[in-house]
Amino acid sequence: MKAAAEYIWIDGQKPTKKLRSKTKILDGPINGLSDIPMWAFDGSSTCQAGTANSDLILQPVFMVPDPTRGKPRTTTSCLRGGGNVLVLCEVLLPDFTPHESNTRAKLRIAAKRYSRHKPLFGIEQEYTLYDADGGRPFRWPKVSTAFPAPQGPYYCGIGSDEVYGRELIEAHTAACLKAGLAVAGTNAEVMPAQWEFQIGPLGPLEVADELWLARWLLYRLGENYGISAKLDPKPISGDWNGAGAHTNFSTRETRRSGGLKHIKEACERLGKFHLEHIKVYGADNDKRLTGRHETCDIKTFRYGIGDRGASIRIPAPVAKAGCGYFEDRRPAANVDPYEACRAILETVCGKGFKAED
Ligand code: ADP
Ligand code: MN
Ligand code: MN
Ligand code: MN
Repeated sequence: MKAAAEYIWIDGQKPTKKLRSKTKILDGPINGLSDIPMWAFDGSSTCQAGTANSDLILQPVFMVPDPTRGKPRTTTSCLRGGGNVLVLCEVLLPDFTPHESNTRAKLRIAAKRYSRHKPLFGIEQEYTLYDADGGRPFRWPKVSTAFPAPQGPYYCGIGSDEVYGRELIEAHTAACLKAGLAVAGTNAEVMPAQWEFQIGPLGPLEVADELWLARWLLYRLGENYGISAKLDPKPISGDWNGAGAHTNFSTRETRRSGGLKHIKEACERLGKFHLEHIKVYGADNDKRLTGRHETCDIKTFRYGIGDRGASIRIPAPVAKAGCGYFEDRRPAANVDPYEACRAILETVCGKGFKAED
């Protein structure tokens, strides 16, 4: 019995890394990661190596059933039954050390170091749908004078005049669930053709792995609909909301009774390392963090209860309960979640975060 394994990895493009994948046909059944061999690829075509020394290694690290190939099955029956799988990989050098673009390897270490705090993350992935060629937002007209009416009715809207592309969003949610990803919800966003899904709450490595796979599924299913999803933090300049990846965070300390004190301490620390965090919170985030459109401007750090104009928002119900989580509103839609989660862990649970140059 043959099984298709889609090897998925993150490339070395700058300033924003992108997903790549290729298919390996394996002898099934596939029972676990140990049935998925390492593989190699041409790093010179992914901004990860020169032509003369181009072979890089794909190390399988996380696997889910593939909801895009063949009959959908449950997690267990798919893995036991030799079905097709999606395999997230780390990129290694030929000597099996992590490639410099491999930010997961660093988060792996940090997640272990701070595991006693039982950190949990929930990430809200905002994104914008575009026509297949990526030219303009899905169903938007060519000329700006004919752009949709100003923002107001679109957020969580209903009806063809208010929301664009729901069919893809529904297919994506179903695919995430079939793959066993911890998708927590979806909503139409403030700009038409803009949407959001949430992943989590999960541990640091898990949330970032699942977010990258959920992004892959969104792009892959978009092919079926002639729609391109994009993570541009400010798709349309002017009076239109940008797209973020609000990162919600809690630890054992913030979740238990009296946790609000720990949340405020965490916010104070995050303020001290604001600029270092911004360095890894996504390219072009300066176009989004303007102090308007539900953001705090990029040069200012502020936290507040129920404040969507702050860098960090403590949800009102959390303040009322006196414990829970907080929301870092700064990460852009195109953030690398391995980096954002590591930054938050190092600042809140460790000595503070310093971005590499
Ligand atoms: P909003 O749009 O109001 O900012 P959402 O409902 O879109 O809020 O997202 C809330 C996020 O908070 C979800 O991703 C959820 O997983 C996450 N979350 C909830 N509880 C916790 C927690 N204890 N720790 C970390 N994240 C959490
Ligand atoms: Mn949300
Ligand atoms: Mn949102
Ligand atoms: Mn939010």
